[in-house]
Amino acid sequence: MTKIGLEIHCQLTNLESKLFCSCKANYRQFEINENICPVCMGLPGSLPRLNQDAVKKATMIAMALNCSTPEKIAFFRKNYFYPDLPKNFQITQLNIYGDTSVGGPGSIMVGDKEIRITRIQLEEDPGRLIYEGTSSKNQITLVDYNRAGTPLVEIVTEPDFENPKQVREFLNILSDLLENLGVSDPSLEGAMRADANVSIEGGKKVEIKNIGSFHDLEKAVHFEITRQESLHSREIEIAQETRHWDDKRKITISSRSKEEALDYRYFLEGDIPWVTIDPAIQEKLKSEMPESISSKKERYVSKYNIPNQVADVLSSDKFYSDLFEDSHTESNAKEIANIITTDLMGLVDTREKREASKITATHLRDLADAIQTGKISRNSAKNALHEIVKSGKELSQVMSDLDLGNVSDESELLTVIKDVISEEPQAVEQAKSNPQTINYLVGKVMQKTKGKADPKLTLDLLKKQIE
Ligand SMILES: [Zn+2]
Repeated sequence: MTKIGLEIHCQLTNLESKLFCSCKANYRQFEINENICPVCMGLPGSLPRLNQDAVKKATMIAMALNCSTPEKIAFFRKNYFYPDLPKNFQITQLNIYGDTSVGGPGSIMVGDKEIRITRIQLEEDPGRLIYEGTSSKNQITLVDYNRAGTPLVEIVTEPDFENPKQVREFLNILSDLLENLGVSDPSLEGAMRADANVSIEGGKKVEIKNIGSFHDLEKAVHFEITRQESLHSREIEIAQETRHWDDKRKITISSRSKEEALDYRYFLEGDIPWVTIDPAIQEKLKSEMPESISSKKERYVSKYNIPNQVADVLSSDKFYSDLFEDSHTESNAKEIANIITTDLMGLVDTREKREASKITATHLRDLADAIQTGKISRNSAKNALHEIVKSGKELSQVMSDLDLGNVSDESELLTVIKDVISEEPQAVEQAKSNPQTINYLVGKVMQKTKGKADPKLTLDLLKKQIE
């Protein structure tokens, strides 16, 4: 059986400062090497100070993944030399004196499959290496330390995945969960990175390092399974090794380095005391956590009778569920869910479009109200939504600017209906004997009013006129 285990690194992107100093966690906004200080540069005499908020958020992730959360956590030094690591050690967590990382064992369901989580740890990110030059001979490596010391949460799973599809489903669930908790924005470049270990039936375990996105993680796992199966079918032994993911060529490449845990000479970080998170604090954290996606979904279905699939989309995406939460009432919930999942989704399907979008909860409430009271047709509502997302104007303004209001004035509508009746004598006769066919005439009225006739009123007036 194929076995796949994951180590996922996600940045806590919504924090104010780095993990052990007051430099900004949002390093992306700075010029190269502008977001640094003696602490994150590891200068002699500088001392780290633990960011409490990072511990809280990492603990929330552990709780959301049903992991145990120890009362005492500790930090360790992982020693290695690499240009992106100014201190020559990384401050991380390790469970050698019992569970002292922010999260102990836990599990999460992916469809019918239980995926066990081994542990969750909080650690600092290294800096970023930038390679320049055209050939291997004149290539130079530049280093940007803005990222050094920013908080990372590492989520380690047991080798419970059996195929790339389960991996993808897990990653979808995980990114929705992190976004819902408000701790990490998975769509930011570099916010999610991963390593994976893969072994096929009868083969040895291969580690894949350096996978830069969730998208590539599934690809890397898929590539690696195919590579190992191909070796196996030709009776070539699969070596136990570490491979790197080449994100340009989309393949894994063997790499010489094979570090063992021993090589890192882990020892307790003496500059950071053990942190106690007693049960009262844990309870408080639990109560501060946002409602989980599954509980939201259940509420949408049971309270508002929103179809399962719609509730699924609505609850798992924070952008949509926030809009829904802020706009809905008991009476318009279904209508708003419908507007979001059928019309709005197509208009804001990328990160850029979402950020540029001007839509607010008030817009959605107004729109649902206008549809429910027959002031605007569903079709015109779609056009109005398009304009609102772009300009942020009030619905009433958009409706008058684009002339989108329904024709609900009886005399105005009656004139159109009389025209249709005189133009379609055959259809009128048919409608007399077979009431079902009246829809054809309603359609004609709609055509003449460019879809703006109030459908209910049209039907009533048409029936009266035909009789
Ligand atoms: Zn710093």
